[in-house]
Amino acid sequence: MIVATSFVRDHDFIQALYIVAFVCFILGLRGLAGPNTAVRGNWIAAVGMAIAFVATLLIPGVVEDGGDWALIFGGIALGTLIGVPAARMVKMTAMPQMVALFNGVGGGAVALIAWVEYRRRFPGHGDELWDQKAQIPSLFAAIIGSISFWGSNIAFGKLQEILPGRPIRLPMQHIINAVLLLVAVASAVILASGTHSQALFILGILVTAALLGNLVVLPIGGADMPVVISLLNAFTGLSAAATGVALDNTALIVAGMLVGASGSILTSQMAVAMNRSVPAIVAGGFGGGGTATAAGDAEERPVQSTSADDVAIQLSYADSVVIVPGYGMAVAQAQHAVRELTDELEKRGVEVNFAIHPVAGRMPGHMNVLLAEADVPYDKLREMDDINPDFPTTDVSLVIGANDVTNPAAREQKDSPIYGMPILDVDKSGQVIVLKRSMNTGFAGIDNPLFYNENTALLFGDAKKSIQGVLAQVKELG
Ligand code: NDP
Repeated sequence: MIVATSFVRDHDFIQALYIVAFVCFILGLRGLAGPNTAVRGNWIAAVGMAIAFVATLLIPGVVEDGGDWALIFGGIALGTLIGVPAARMVKMTAMPQMVALFNGVGGGAVALIAWVEYRRRFPGHGDELWDQKAQIPSLFAAIIGSISFWGSNIAFGKLQEILPGRPIRLPMQHIINAVLLLVAVASAVILASGTHSQALFILGILVTAALLGNLVVLPIGGADMPVVISLLNAFTGLSAAATGVALDNTALIVAGMLVGASGSILTSQMAVAMNRSVPAIVAGGFGGGGTATAAGDAEERPVQSTSADDVAIQLSYADSVVIVPGYGMAVAQAQHAVRELTDELEKRGVEVNFAIHPVAGRMPGHMNVLLAEADVPYDKLREMDDINPDFPTTDVSLVIGANDVTNPAAREQKDSPIYGMPILDVDKSGQVIVLKRSMNTGFAGIDNPLFYNENTALLFGDAKKSIQGVLAQVKELG
């Protein structure tokens, strides 16, 4: 029994478990790259996390020192009680704010670990030297983790509409932020130099970084928020990796770096797809312009509205149809009806493809996930660059709850807030049918000239009901 216990607590055995955990994390991330493998990928990564967790508990000293199993299992129970129902009940459309919240918790945990480490190393808050190898990364983690926690909470509040989505700025925002950063870094340098080790400095770091997290994200417009969340996610990863260095824990280093690297890549890809540079988004937070919004002259210009019967006829007698899903399809949960309509049209010999814009919906891959859930074959989903050249030869583009990603102002109007954002060129197809409920704007809050084109007709109503109506008419046509 003693032999078995000492074996499982052996350093090499624990490291071997960690290696198994990393392999799971990497395989999990690989799985997340495609909708067909995403669920399996998630499970593999979760198993990896469980292995890393058990391995950490086996490290000699982790439990004996505190000896507080009740606290550990209490924490697990509390996390499970909150996390599982929240993840099960969250609507797909509310996923970005959920990610913000969970990411914030990670950053907060890292900041608290830095504080606990400080207290552990300086029980009497005296003048003993803190091992610099552990101290510097720990202080870095305190700053970045705290910024990430508070910034993520603001991002959550904006997306959940608890806070106004518009940029909120203070006078002299630049200077205030710069002073806060300076105080945080100066406190860290004083602690690291070993001259003073008073609790005041670590608290100073946590409080100034907290204020900074709030003040950097508050002035950023709601439209940029998902990019900000992805950036903060990368920050949390980096601060967790730094904590791993401080605690000499390889699992935390590798997991943190994986999050940091994937978060950075995702941030950059989202910014490119929205034609926003990451520095410009963050600089917006320092007092530049957030995303401008302009409702335009939506009410003054006439649009053509159409009916389910007409749409059914146009689709049924077309040779080629491109379906453009957007956020509204997610809100209406119309994906299953869309799949049925696709099947019915294909039975009639119509070629149907789906055009997927990289930022359609509210999170990367949003449309892919919904369409995969409705069993739309993956080879029907065509990326923007691949399908754009086909629009001029497409008979009908059926835009389902998409708006910004089809807005020609991004191509043509230099003063448009989304000018330069790559879009799906649906306006170049023979006929465009747009399904939406009203003349409301999309996420960017700007009018869409597509709706007033001669070859565009709008079918007003909830997308699911509209598709069901069209489907019924297509079936009637026999
Ligand atoms: P938009 O937000 O531009 O437009 C959605 C449209 O759906 C609206 O015009 C709305 O009009 C309509 N709609 C809403 N509910 C329904 C419903 N039940 N039935 C029918 N229509 C409905 O969506 P897009 O997908 O075109 O663009 C995504 C936007 O989100 C872009 O601005 C992008 O930059 C942004 N974004 C996306 C991210 C991502 O990762 N995917 C991340 C960050 C931002 P109405 O109210 O009249 O029905």
